[in-house]
Amino acid sequence: MPLRVACQDCGTVLYEGAELKPPYEIISIFSGKCPKCGKKLSCIPTQIEIIPMELD
Ligand SMILES: [Zn+2]
Repeated sequence: MPLRVACQDCGTVLYEGAELKPPYEIISIFSGKCPKCGKKLSCIPTQIEIIPMELD
């Protein structure tokens, strides 16, 4: 299931991939803040996209 996590403030994509990762793991990669705008990242991302895959 593809997953995309973006900064709530500037929309920078922090993680995009087919692997489902827990949000705290993604946040810890960036030391808890957005690399672009410096906004503190919440452990509960409000902007998260989970794109369902179509199965045959
Ligand atoms: Zn940002």
